[in-house]
Amino acid sequence: MSSVRERYEEHIADLVEEHGLIRYLTWEKPYQLDGRELYVPPPVTMVHYLITLHEIGHYIVGNRPVLYGEGEAWEKALELSRFPLTEYARKYMVKCLNWYSLESYMALLMLKGDVDIPDIDHPFWRLANG
Ligand SMILES: [Zn+2]
Repeated sequence: MSSVRERYEEHIADLVEEHGLIRYLTWEKPYQLDGRELYVPPPVTMVHYLITLHEIGHYIVGNRPVLYGEGEAWEKALELSRFPLTEYARKYMVKCLNWYSLESYMALLMLKGDVDIPDIDHPFWRLANG
């Protein structure tokens, strides 16, 4: 019987292979996807597992306006997950999404010319509201 951590690892290894990605383990933020390269933490807890699924989600949903991409990549992470979402992991996701909706971040997007705000029924807002 394998541990939960081993099962997280097996699932991630399958997804990485399925999508032809290259995974680099790091504790340095920001965790991110760069082309086919994933820079993600080892899946020590469900939060780390979901962070990796979220970055794989970015690969699957493709190039999207920032807020759309964040909402859709989290939605994809939840779809891909083989484990029931823990309360802590749910709160982590909600916190991430709310960080993106902060006024200061919105201002940064405006400066970069990316001001595409999802409609209220988009996954970004649904997931951000927990
Ligand atoms: Zn993201």
